[in-house]
Amino acid sequence: MIDLHMHTSRCGHASGEMAEYIEAGRVRGLDVMCFTDHLPMPAPYPQHYTMRADEMPAYVADVLAAAAQARDSGGPEVLLGIEADWLPDAIPAVVDSLAAYDFDVVLGSVHFLGDWAFDDPDLVARYDSWRPDDLWERYFEETAHAAASGLFDVIAHPDLVKKFGSRSERDPRPWYELTAIALADAGCAVEVNSAGLRKPVAEIYPALDLLKACRRRGVPATMGSDAHSPAEVGEGLDLARELLLEAGYTAVVCFRKRVAREVAL
Ligand code: ZN
Ligand code: FE
Ligand code: FE
Ligand code: ZN
Repeated sequence: MIDLHMHTSRCGHASGEMAEYIEAGRVRGLDVMCFTDHLPMPAPYPQHYTMRADEMPAYVADVLAAAAQARDSGGPEVLLGIEADWLPDAIPAVVDSLAAYDFDVVLGSVHFLGDWAFDDPDLVARYDSWRPDDLWERYFEETAHAAASGLFDVIAHPDLVKKFGSRSERDPRPWYELTAIALADAGCAVEVNSAGLRKPVAEIYPALDLLKACRRRGVPATMGSDAHSPAEVGEGLDLARELLLEAGYTAVVCFRKRVAREVAL
């Protein structure tokens, strides 16, 4: 099993140190695990969701040291990743930040619509100012743009808009289709992310219909727990695997130096 999405205490809203995550991954029997802490965002985006920009060198050094140590002690394999926000008005800054390090994988995430971090539990009141259909349309538009940008290897939690239970009135499948087309055209993978099971929506991201659309279009899939504590490492990935099989996938992709390689499910 691979788990390509997890955070550590560096981001300020997760707990636990790398060694504890790796120990948890070992206990869970993971073959590969990838740290993907949040990439610092340029001002005026809020600074409290990520590590500080000046902590990036230490983050990278810590992952590489942890990877070497895990290698010497019999696994699991530890990869260097990052979760970068889709910030359409700050693309050059994100390009520069991503180019500074030799990541194994770059996850791209839509967490912001304009200045609203719609996945922040402290900002849920703003859902009331949207018609759900408008919100869903805007969210999937941004997700398609994120995929098409070419910045990312994977689009993470691809229907995060449902996190707090928001549901469109319209049938969402046309948006799923457009998302799958954008991913396929960009050669970007879709992430099956079990963190939704721990959120109010209590579902894996993405919905089965979105994953099926990706499968029909030949979009590669990967998987991650989005752990924000050591206890969450690998959690729910058995269900993620079942969803992938149900959607018709027989393999997922793992990344090294941003090159995808298939791993049988
Ligand atoms: Zn986080
Ligand atoms: Fe995220
Ligand atoms: Fe994450
Ligand atoms: Zn995430």
